[in-house]
Amino acid sequence: MTTDHYDIVIIGGGPVGMALTLTLRDAGISSLLLEARGLPEKVEDPRPLALSHGSYLILHRLGVWDKLPQKTPIRTIHISNRGSFGQTILTPEDAGVPTLGFVVNYHDLFHSMHKKLVESQANYIAGAIVTRLDTDENSGRVYFNYQGKEEKITAKLLILADGGQLAKQLPDITYQTHDYQQWAVVANVKAEKKQIGIAYERFTSDGPVALLPNDKDFALVWTVTPEASKEIVALDDATFLARLHRHFGDRLGRFVSAGKRSAFPLALKYATSVTTQRVALIGNAAQTLHPVAGQGFNLGLRDAYELACEIISTQSSSHEIGAPAMLSRYRQRRQMDSSTGRMFTDSLVKIFSNENKLLKHACGIGLSTLDCMPPLKRFIARRMIFGARG
Ligand SMILES: Cc1cc2nc3c(=O)[nH]c(=O)nc-3n(C[C@H](O)[C@H](O)[C@H](O)COP(=O)(O)OP(=O)(O)OC[C@H]3O[C@@H](n4cnc5c(N)ncnc54)[C@H](O)[C@@H]3O)c2cc1C
Repeated sequence: MTTDHYDIVIIGGGPVGMALTLTLRDAGISSLLLEARGLPEKVEDPRPLALSHGSYLILHRLGVWDKLPQKTPIRTIHISNRGSFGQTILTPEDAGVPTLGFVVNYHDLFHSMHKKLVESQANYIAGAIVTRLDTDENSGRVYFNYQGKEEKITAKLLILADGGQLAKQLPDITYQTHDYQQWAVVANVKAEKKQIGIAYERFTSDGPVALLPNDKDFALVWTVTPEASKEIVALDDATFLARLHRHFGDRLGRFVSAGKRSAFPLALKYATSVTTQRVALIGNAAQTLHPVAGQGFNLGLRDAYELACEIISTQSSSHEIGAPAMLSRYRQRRQMDSSTGRMFTDSLVKIFSNENKLLKHACGIGLSTLDCMPPLKRFIARRMIFGARG
């Protein structure tokens, strides 16, 4: 280690922490990224990520986009509600963008960002597990285990991008949580009917099921009860494919093959304040959302990008990085986007995951009405793509 004091230490080298590091790389700010996982080659996270057009623009600017081995454009989003008539179709024309977004694999994104970090010679330590943090008015301290030794570093600003475990050590950060009692079963599946570029979001009383275009196949994100997730992951392929067909319906014909299945617990968790003395939270550490409508990473990327803009403008106006005024500007900047994204996904899950016939009928009417109202479609689509500034 060359120095033990930095302007900024970023804790957590997931895609959001790496995006922030890359955004800051040429700004003349000394920063260090600490990531708990060892060699990035070992990261094999099976979840698909639907990236909005806004995220594409950021990743392109960071030089990551061209490194991604596979990115499947989303040209249409088909939204329906099982057991009722309504549906809505979103197209790029509705939103006034060339494409609605892209589907990439989490591990591809992780590896591509990591390659870019190495190329840009960013200060990055993999295999560094942060165990403790504390702060005073002037700086923050980080304690971490690296190669069997405890190390300590200090910084003007600590940025938590760790998914939300470490903030619990800070006295002023509290989280609101809601366990959806749902898990997402994730797998790559092949359908009988070939359709390129169409993403399906189908609401059911157990929760939403999404089939996202993934090259020539589909990436499945199937929300089920915690008990059903264990059972579905353990099924043999033929029984799994038949059960998915019964659940999703016949729009794509039968499902003919499936890759490895994994399951993730789903909860809403958000920090009541995304800053405290010498600390800022980004990505899942600031808010963890239900994957419906694919908002979590897109929102986290905007956290990273806007925090970087705030840090760079603080530095160039010779003000102090990490001081209360800067943190307050970051908090205000993110408040609207974060709360809108959170309320949007939470309401979708709660309103659509129900057995009540009247409410189902109302949801059907809502989807059909949306389909007939281009200005409203444009309003919703642009907010999903660009956040609150859409
Ligand atoms: C099934 C599923 C599907 C999803 N689909 C979408 C989608 O389509 N679109 C979308 O936008 N979002 C989606 N999301 C959400 C998205 O995955 C997350 O929002 C995103 O991964 C958050 O990135 P992050 O970098 O903040 O956190 P993470 O990806 O959780 O990364 C946190 C990093 O911090 C490191 N870390 C943790 N603790 C420590 C420590 N003590 N010391 C050092 N490092 C530490 C971890 O090793 C990890 O690398 C989905 C989520 C799920 C579960």
